[in-house]
Amino acid sequence: MKTKQFDIKQLARESILRLKPYSSARDEYVSDGSKMIFLDANENPFENGVNRYPDPQQRNLKKVLAEQKGVSINNVLLGNGSDEVLDLIFRAFCEPKIDNIITLPPTYGMYKVLANINNVAEQEVLLTKSFQPNVEAVLEAVNQNTKIIFLCSPNNPTGNSFSIKNITQILKEFNGLVVIDEAYIDFSDKESWLKKIKEYPNLVVTQTLSKAYGLAGIRLGICYGSEEVIDILNKIKPPYNVNELTQKRALERVVNQDQIKLEVSEILRERKNLSEALRDISFVNEIYESDANFILVKVDNASKRYNQLLEKGIVIRNRSTQPLCENTLRFTVGTDEENKILIEALKNL
Ligand SMILES: *Cc1c(COP(=O)(O)O)cnc(C)c1O
Repeated sequence: MKTKQFDIKQLARESILRLKPYSSARDEYVSDGSKMIFLDANENPFENGVNRYPDPQQRNLKKVLAEQKGVSINNVLLGNGSDEVLDLIFRAFCEPKIDNIITLPPTYGMYKVLANINNVAEQEVLLTKSFQPNVEAVLEAVNQNTKIIFLCSPNNPTGNSFSIKNITQILKEFNGLVVIDEAYIDFSDKESWLKKIKEYPNLVVTQTLSKAYGLAGIRLGICYGSEEVIDILNKIKPPYNVNELTQKRALERVVNQDQIKLEVSEILRERKNLSEALRDISFVNEIYESDANFILVKVDNASKRYNQLLEKGIVIRNRSTQPLCENTLRFTVGTDEENKILIEALKNL
């Protein structure tokens, strides 16, 4: 359905294009580090480390991320977790009650929830049995009010990555935004789509510090896209959406790539061990390949096994309510010790 070229003015909501963004004190005067007296933002003047408003544009953190990923700082938007980033995308591009988006279940539940919150219709096009996008059906579902297609790769809860061919076809044939959620990309040996944002103006890639980077508690989500798209999201984000503590802590972590790589490689080793150990569990019927830090498993009776593990003090996720996921359980890969306890528990059920 390639009817017209990608055009941000056609895609963004009219009211957002017209909007004049709020200008905060810290937007109007940007400190260059020299000693100044700040009497512009009604802050408490007594220093305690966080008495000043944070940088609304998170320049220091963005600079490091942009360098590491080989993009410009103008291709980066940061948010209070991916959840905020995704919500901003909805609010910038989807007119409530008029526009629609497409999701590909079984997948991450937030896309649907955010669509509902924003009163935007959600069309669901199931993945194939091998958990790949049904590209033909996806493109057929597109109509003139379809603004976004959400692709989660590696996908949660199935764990697999979508093929390059499938994603490329969607990027090429759909004129709206294609959001690729790469929350688990650091656990995968597949390449990030980040490199392609120059090639495809309709491509948006989201990542997070919540998984491989080990910072779920600080809430830092990242959105990479064309300058046009990032500009619009910047217009509507709350001025101080990423707090000072988060910016500091994130910066400390992202510069320490060695430690992150070390932890990821350990998780990958454990993923392999866990996957092999699961093969010996009598009630496990299928173990799905994973490019993420979890493993989806088909069992004889998911509710029963879930409750049995709960009684032993182990909390996993029952994904059986998701389409194509009947009687499936999702195990997050823990530490070596945690995984040993899990396997022992499973053997004894
Ligand atoms: C965990 C997860 C996220 C992370 O969300 P945050 O708000 O950044 O913590 C995003 N997308 C998917 C698919 C996830 O599983």
